[in-house]
Amino acid sequence: MLMTGAQYIESLRKLKTRVYMFGEQVENWVDHPIIRPSINCVAMTYELAGDPEYVDLMTAKSNLTGETVNRFSHLHQSTDDLRKKVKMQRLLGQKTASCFQRCVGMDAFNAIYSTTFETDKKYGTEYHKRFVEYLKFVQKNDLTIDGAMTDPKGDRSKSPSAQEDPDMFLRIVEKRADGIVVRGAKTHQTGSINSHEHLVMPTISMTEADKSYAVCFAVPSDADGIFMIYGRQSCDTRKMEEGADVDLGNKQFGGQEALVVFDDVFIPNDRIFLCEEWDFAGMLVERFAGYHRQSYGGCKVGVGDVIIGAAALAADYNGANKASHIKDKLIEMTHLNETLYCCGIACSAEGYPTEAGNYSIDMLLANVCKQNVTRFPYEIVRLAEDIAGGLMVTMPSEKDFKSKVKVGKNGETIGEVCNKYFKGSPIATTEERMRVLRFIENVALGTAAVGYRTESMHGAGSPQAQRIMIARQGNIEAKKELAKNIAGIKK
Ligand code: SF4
Ligand code: FE
Repeated sequence: MLMTGAQYIESLRKLKTRVYMFGEQVENWVDHPIIRPSINCVAMTYELAGDPEYVDLMTAKSNLTGETVNRFSHLHQSTDDLRKKVKMQRLLGQKTASCFQRCVGMDAFNAIYSTTFETDKKYGTEYHKRFVEYLKFVQKNDLTIDGAMTDPKGDRSKSPSAQEDPDMFLRIVEKRADGIVVRGAKTHQTGSINSHEHLVMPTISMTEADKSYAVCFAVPSDADGIFMIYGRQSCDTRKMEEGADVDLGNKQFGGQEALVVFDDVFIPNDRIFLCEEWDFAGMLVERFAGYHRQSYGGCKVGVGDVIIGAAALAADYNGANKASHIKDKLIEMTHLNETLYCCGIACSAEGYPTEAGNYSIDMLLANVCKQNVTRFPYEIVRLAEDIAGGLMVTMPSEKDFKSKVKVGKNGETIGEVCNKYFKGSPIATTEERMRVLRFIENVALGTAAVGYRTESMHGAGSPQAQRIMIARQGNIEAKKELAKNIAGIKK
């Protein structure tokens, strides 16, 4: 059954997830002002699925049960499904201007579904069957799942088994008849706190020596031994200020990352989807990363749409909208943003069925997509800052704008002074101008910067990870043959 946004939020209250922030345990993390915007953001993935206007993008028919499911828990059955995924992510980016977090689970489902099929084929294991049962449970209960990949990694020059501290990569520490015990951590886990469960995957290709690190499993967020330490974001404590509104830029929505620690956690057999088959770790990593690199051609484009809109509004409110260089900058921002979208759509349109039957994206194009995402949002934000003007970082606080303290010779208040001197074009109030500038500040430097700028760089793999895949898929040898043919080189 599909949940509403409110039902999703209520469902989180039943979890006993252990969350720590600023050195202390957060008991009521659902209502914590720093965490709540990220919960609201995931709630939108539920809310829009119930909106008749978006039902085609937001839901799909499950190939496992025939039931209507949220697209975030769907296995892509066609290139049309892959394109709709990207469009859904653009839509959510437009509605939240944030990272709505639920994609990591969707990308994990699709990667694990096909990888378990191929693992079973080689080893005669039963991971695929187990995973299908697990996914039916997820779809039926409309759960949010954190796809957990990134390990702390310790000394980057060393493999998992060669690390001085063996916990730098999550590993199996004990094998029992009824399951395994795992230890380690996953870092900067998007949406980990407000996910019902976690789907843990290895983070790199492995050799036989690393086999105890080749593990994939599902586990509830509040399982015994799991705890999370919240990642702070710049300007996050603004959310703790009394009556905070304008200064937050994006009051309602936000992203979320945390360190998730697995302190000897028991995983029962029916939730294990890879266990020491080290030669499939690389396949799982590449497939998950491929899907998530496609995702960025949707979500970041949606956020980009809001930033372009905000920059255009800032120009209007400054009275600068008729200047030709402003128009040209908005064109450039649009060009860059739509180029990212082209990549997201292209890698989807060129998708193909896996052996298991769900659809993969085109790997080369998905990696090109993400490589562009490591660059273009920076330029888009640079242009937004250019258009906004320096006031976005020098403006007094909203408390000043509202202050009744008298400071002028004629009894003017701080609020009156601020409202007088920060007024722009008559088409907007000073508060409206503040709101749009604070939004741009939030995306460029504040709590949303993690979701738009730095996440564009490192999320779904840092730029070099894509370049390795581009090198592998780029087929330079075939291109040399093309050149030889045309140039008349016979050998
Ligand atoms: Fe989804 Fe984008 Fe956030 Fe990844 S970065 S979880 S694709 S919104
Ligand atoms: Fe991400």
